[in-house]
Amino acid sequence: MLIVHKYGGTSVGSLERIENVATRVAKAREEGNDIVVVVSAMSGETNKLIEYAQHFSDNPSKREMDMLLSSGERVTAALLAIALQEKGYPAVAMTGRQAGILTDDSHTYARIESIDPTAMKAEIADGKVVIVSGFQGINASGSVTTLGRGGSDLSAVAIAGALKADACEIYSDVDGIYTTDPRIEPKAKKMDFISYDEMLELASLGAKVLQNRSVELAKKLNVKIVAKSSFSDAEGTVIGEETEEMEAVLVSGIALDRNQARVTVRDVSDKPGIAAEIFTKLAEEQINVDMIIQNASADGKTNLGFTVPQSELTQAKAVIESFDHDIGGMDLDDSVCKVSVVGVGMKSHSGVAATAFCALANENINIEMISTSEIKVSMIVSEKYAELAVRTLHNAYNLDK
Ligand code: ASP
Ligand code: MG
Repeated sequence: MLIVHKYGGTSVGSLERIENVATRVAKAREEGNDIVVVVSAMSGETNKLIEYAQHFSDNPSKREMDMLLSSGERVTAALLAIALQEKGYPAVAMTGRQAGILTDDSHTYARIESIDPTAMKAEIADGKVVIVSGFQGINASGSVTTLGRGGSDLSAVAIAGALKADACEIYSDVDGIYTTDPRIEPKAKKMDFISYDEMLELASLGAKVLQNRSVELAKKLNVKIVAKSSFSDAEGTVIGEETEEMEAVLVSGIALDRNQARVTVRDVSDKPGIAAEIFTKLAEEQINVDMIIQNASADGKTNLGFTVPQSELTQAKAVIESFDHDIGGMDLDDSVCKVSVVGVGMKSHSGVAATAFCALANENINIEMISTSEIKVSMIVSEKYAELAVRTLHNAYNLDK
């Protein structure tokens, strides 16, 4: 089998930890597998390099930032290769360019355009462990680019796709994806398996485990991800294609997003083009609108509610205030949060939403907004009920069983 391992910053955060990774890779090699390793910079390293640049400039050029930041991953790749060689395992460290990763021109947030795996394949055929510096590539004119924070997960998935690897194991200090945040509900359980779509909806539960963009790419390339801990031998969580057994499970997890603020625009003229105008203006200001609700109108007026990230509330307020026509007024509330119940089983079962509403009602938690998709029910509730709502829902779907 060909397996891509990806080790995050904490997993390679010290020389001892790099040694530990070398031991793990050696073990995987002994099991008879071909291994390509993608590494992050040692934890804290990328931030330190950013601070160095800020010593000289508030607005350092992005091209040079990429030169700078890409060095963190190279250090780890080279050290890991040396550690493996010392253990008697042939290994070769590569930059993103050497691994054949071509990106577009957007420095500090580049997209991978293609990967030419020829060089990696030749080294694998030669019996070597290939160790690739994550988070980087080059653009068409040969400048180093980086892929955005957390981007070495993306490198790993893209490389696994290009090499048609059997799996992409992403190692961090967490041993998988849990049914909800264990700090809120200690009864949260680690999941064995979750579909790409569920993982994307449960992004907040995976935040410390893997970058969301990499899950999107894995879905597109059909790369099987296994989220594991480099500090234990626990099984981990597989993130892959949806299967029929998964549909038998009603709900797989409960996510919480505290970063929500609610805007209600009152007495909006109910005529064509008003929503278009409001949301076009919000989009022009780069405000990320999440949930939207419009009520049936009475007397030609309606109320329009939507949510935005808390940090964008002031901006959203200014946009609405700039409407001197067709609206009655507005209410703002930044002490709300969004709890979401996610599961592919919802596609084929009814009553999933009702269970959530009843459970929250029993706790006297008022639901201020609701939105649903094929595999998700999201509810806006007052921030002060955030943790209670999560525990209540976790319990309502027996996720601790
Ligand atoms: N070192 C980069 C960062 O800290 C990339 C990564 O770790 O994935 O964002
Ligand atoms: Mg990371």
